[in-house]
Amino acid sequence: MFGKSKTLWIIVVVVGALFLLPNTTRAQDDPQRLMELQNQMQKIRQEQVAARREEEAGQAEKQRQEDEYNNRMRMLAFSASGIIALYLAGSALVSYRNPENVKQRRLRREWAVMEREQRQKEEERRKVLLQEQRTQAKEREWQRKENERQGEFQRIAAIVKDIRAMPRYAVWRQDVFARYGRKCAIGGFNCRTDNLEVDHFPQSLHSLVSRYRIPDAGIQAYECTALWDVNNGAVLCKIHHDQTSSSQYRQQKLAQ
Ligand SMILES: [Zn+2]
Repeated sequence: MFGKSKTLWIIVVVVGALFLLPNTTRAQDDPQRLMELQNQMQKIRQEQVAARREEEAGQAEKQRQEDEYNNRMRMLAFSASGIIALYLAGSALVSYRNPENVKQRRLRREWAVMEREQRQKEEERRKVLLQEQRTQAKEREWQRKENERQGEFQRIAAIVKDIRAMPRYAVWRQDVFARYGRKCAIGGFNCRTDNLEVDHFPQSLHSLVSRYRIPDAGIQAYECTALWDVNNGAVLCKIHHDQTSSSQYRQQKLAQ
């Protein structure tokens, strides 16, 4: 079965070999052909290099265009924001310079100053008021105490007056006269002997009544030995009596 096609196979192979063999052998052997081939290869390589260069150049161009576009966009954005900023600044300036706004600002400033002054005045007024209140309170307290003192003085003065009307007082007067004689204790050329007075001295009757808390010209007064101590007594002419400090104080107090 292989008889015919085997022969055909052999023919094909031989023809193929015959066809290929001279080509290879001739190309290797023929220097001219070799040179041609080498030239062709070099040409192809050069073309490849050129193509690659072209491609690179194309890419560089593309990159350049992209960069340019980006730059342009950036510039555009920058310009736009610059314009917007300028516009905003301009409108702000215009608004600032607007006579109505200028007036309003001035009014606000004046109002603030007025308010501050008002507050300061209020504060000062409040301080003065507080000070006044304190002073008034102090004065009232002083007056109250003064009234108390005055009332106390009047009360004791009334008791003193009653004690002077006691028979015991008349006796004490006589005792003092008896002890010191009928002459002014101070004496001197301006003394007068026709108006001699007797008084408690150096402790005034007023201070004794106050110290021993004598309530009236009653039994407590009668029994208080300090009141009837002749050592605490003095004979004085009217002139010198009036000059004693307790007498002056009494007169001054009673005049109020
Ligand atoms: Zn005298």
